[in-house]
Amino acid sequence: MKKYFLKTFGCQMNYSDSEKLESVLESIALEQVERIEESDIVIFNTCSIKQHAEDRVFGYVRNAKKLGKIVGLTGCMVRKTSTQHFEKDEKDSLLKKFERIDFVFRIEDMKSLPELLQEYDENIQRPKISFDELDYLNISPKLKENFRAFVPIMTGCDKFCTYCIVPFARGKERSRPFADIVNECEMHVKNGVKEITLVGQNVNAYFLDDSTRKTLQRQTDFAILLDEIAQIKNLKRLQFTSPHPRHMGQDVIDVMVKNENIARTLHLPVQSGSTKMLQKMGREHNISRFTDFTKNLRKAIPEITITTDIIVGFCDETEEDFQETMKLFNSEKFIMAYISKYSVRKGTIAGDKMKDTISLEEKKRRFELLTEKLKEVLRKENKKEIGKIEEVLVDEVKNGIASGKSHRGRTIRFPIGEKNKRFIGEIISVKIISSESIWSFTGEMM
Ligand code: SF4
Repeated sequence: MKKYFLKTFGCQMNYSDSEKLESVLESIALEQVERIEESDIVIFNTCSIKQHAEDRVFGYVRNAKKLGKIVGLTGCMVRKTSTQHFEKDEKDSLLKKFERIDFVFRIEDMKSLPELLQEYDENIQRPKISFDELDYLNISPKLKENFRAFVPIMTGCDKFCTYCIVPFARGKERSRPFADIVNECEMHVKNGVKEITLVGQNVNAYFLDDSTRKTLQRQTDFAILLDEIAQIKNLKRLQFTSPHPRHMGQDVIDVMVKNENIARTLHLPVQSGSTKMLQKMGREHNISRFTDFTKNLRKAIPEITITTDIIVGFCDETEEDFQETMKLFNSEKFIMAYISKYSVRKGTIAGDKMKDTISLEEKKRRFELLTEKLKEVLRKENKKEIGKIEEVLVDEVKNGIASGKSHRGRTIRFPIGEKNKRFIGEIISVKIISSESIWSFTGEMM
């Protein structure tokens, strides 16, 4: 039996795709191994969000070839370099570009992988299941953990934020049929899954096809889907990532209020506290729209926590613009922010047409100041958590300490008094007793 090693880079969408890829590879009796050295075939599911992410992949490819492996590439790097049709000539040019790589395939073409691999080993079996007619989004994933699942509801992006490569890498927005998503979620819950995360580049740009919309006789789309899935019996926690502020409205808040199994934490990427910068970034939302939404959300669900993404040092960002972001951190009290220093990405609108005006030193300064602001806010906010009782979904047990995330997205560790793993995948009531570090708490079982 041939053995494969699969390495995934990037966002949860890529991880979700990889779980489907594993199903396809298992259908042709390939065995997954944890160490590259033990494999015959190596596949990299790539991310192209930053140049640095691509450079890392090339490093891994070089290493795999040194070890004498057959190496394949899929994911965002593949799409970015090709055009609409993925014909032989384009494959050849990709292979030339990624010298040392043996084969490439678009992620949505994963169902043709068995055929592709037969070129390298004629003993590779035909798949037991036929994937031919299937949209790849409907391929059943091989779940990494039996208590949680990532379910794609859409893919692609039509927003073309000026700094972002995703629309070029992932293509246009495409939503999955409503019934397919609901059926997949029901199947996971029936199999014991407790937490479902709906994933997509812009989850709340999800749209229903016309006939489904007519049948449901309702007007908004993502909120309908969220409501339907939240009502699946025995689904303990439902979350989604990433939504775009532009599509966030009262309908989503109402569904969250109605369904308590929807996590009381929301990742809502704002990118900057300055409306001027948001315009320059092509974000299609502004700060007052963002803060109006969070105000309404907090009014409806006071215990909600919010996390975000920020870029510092984007083209022409002035000190005043940056201070607007600092101010936003004071008022929004984010419990986590993924802060990145702007770096030029060729092939994006900003990368090709705007000047990278802020020096690296200045970007670093802003990054550090904002990180410190985040910590300062958290130190104060964390004190308010002591004594609260939270429901923790345990995902790790090490040396008698269990850890996992609460319904409000906080990491909590607590002693379980024994070193067994039977707690993994269980939801446990835990009282927070101290703030272990800025990013996590210690607690005790109730
Ligand atoms: S919304 Fe903007 S940042 Fe998000 S994937 Fe689309 S282009 Fe990129």
